[in-house]
Amino acid sequence: MSTTNANLYAILADRFMARAAEPAVITPEGVSYTYADVDRVSARYASLLVGLGLTKGDRVAVQVEKSPEALFLYLACLRAGLAYLPLNTAYPEAELDYFIEDAEPGAVVCRPESEAMVQGLAARRGVANVLTLGGDGGGSLAERAANQSESFETVPCAEEDLAAILYTSGTTGRPKGAMLSHLNLSSNAITLHRVWGFRDGDVLLHALPLFHTHGLFVACHCALLNASTMYLCPRFDADVVMRLLPRSTVFMGVPTFYTRLLARPEFGAEQCSGMRLFVSGSAPLLTQTFEEFQARTGHTILERYGMTECGMSTSNPLDGARKAGTVGLPLPGVSLRVVDESGKALGPGEVGGIEFTGPNVFRGYWRRPEKTAEDFTADGYFRSGDMGVLDEDGYVSIVGRSKDLIISGGFNVYPKEVERCIDDLDGVVESAVVGVSDADFGERVTAVVVAPDGHGLSEDGVIAALKTRLAGYKVPKRVFFVDELPRNAMGKVQKNVLRDRYESA
Ligand code: AMP
Repeated sequence: MSTTNANLYAILADRFMARAAEPAVITPEGVSYTYADVDRVSARYASLLVGLGLTKGDRVAVQVEKSPEALFLYLACLRAGLAYLPLNTAYPEAELDYFIEDAEPGAVVCRPESEAMVQGLAARRGVANVLTLGGDGGGSLAERAANQSESFETVPCAEEDLAAILYTSGTTGRPKGAMLSHLNLSSNAITLHRVWGFRDGDVLLHALPLFHTHGLFVACHCALLNASTMYLCPRFDADVVMRLLPRSTVFMGVPTFYTRLLARPEFGAEQCSGMRLFVSGSAPLLTQTFEEFQARTGHTILERYGMTECGMSTSNPLDGARKAGTVGLPLPGVSLRVVDESGKALGPGEVGGIEFTGPNVFRGYWRRPEKTAEDFTADGYFRSGDMGVLDEDGYVSIVGRSKDLIISGGFNVYPKEVERCIDDLDGVVESAVVGVSDADFGERVTAVVVAPDGHGLSEDGVIAALKTRLAGYKVPKRVFFVDELPRNAMGKVQKNVLRDRYESA
């Protein structure tokens, strides 16, 4: 049996402490922390948490603004063998209460301004420790950690030990906590670091939130494994990103980041000349965005696909064809299949449910053994809930979540297929297609279209144009024009919101 410590912090620090004096994190204002600082501050936070009585496996719920200290807190939890539980700052009190009740954390770290509210919840739910952390790094966490030890022996962990719990943004039912082990995170980090060709001198421009798998794991782990410098922006701001791009080599974003950059006429090849890699994920990147970005900057965005439960599962290649509208090939170590309703594996060109297995796949949902059992097949594949199709080369395209599949008059309608046709119409920026209840058809195909300049588009015009391109049952019965689509913090279109909105229309 191997005696090496599978604790992710030990794996990361093994790489980055070789460059202890190098800058690890720089804020847009120019405040800089070295890797030695990362190690020192995370040691102090870890010492404090352990001193409060938290032991291996205890949860630490964290709802704070993005800051270098928030990242150090995550690393402190890893070091101490505690399960990090990051929460979107948008969650109001009622939702926070649910997470605290469900996860039973040993400590909650919150924004200073929500301390009184969180103290109330903690008292009600029997949580002994509430600490605060502000966007400026201040608060009781820093104050109480100030005189703690700067050396902390990273707690030995087994591969399967819990490193983090991330609640999935489920649109039906209550959010479920996805349990991620040290191996889930480290295996994915090592794979991405390798396949995306991280090298000496890489600098990551980090504009994603730190409460989600994309910003917290994918982006930070690659940089930490590479002992790279990260420009840590508190949020995406096109001006700040354009200012920092010339000092960076890698950028990771959701599609909205790219469309916002492209909306700026001054954005172009000049800012990107030192860049080597632009990654996109968390929501589908429109072919139009992919092509416009290529034309404007000379860079081909690399799109990848993943989810909270599994980290990253597929990626377009670093070397080789990056195909627009696809999320690339399964990552090394990931076995992926597209199956029909009976579980039979389908060949290229056939749409079905995406399932995968690999060291990245999570350990199950926190205290939901039945739900976990439901989502895994007998041979250990995770049913992702996404529908997709393989091409002849094995590239995967996502056609949408299975719950977004529309069944109209007994026929399956894949929203993505209809959206692609609508997006091809002149004047359309983007669209979302949903099914709303219909007494006659079961579900009625409904399109919501963003077309700011109009281009003379009308509901009847769109329907007529689509009739020449799609089978009748796929053509929307109704088309609504809007200024923008509702999106969550990760840029995903909230189809449940659209379904509710147009249910009675
Ligand atoms: P989350 O758990 O919040 O990361 O959401 C994961 C879901 O986002 C996946 O199951 C997909 O439905 C979607 N997703 C992630 N990356 C992509 C992508 N590149 N293209 C299309 N959908 C994506």
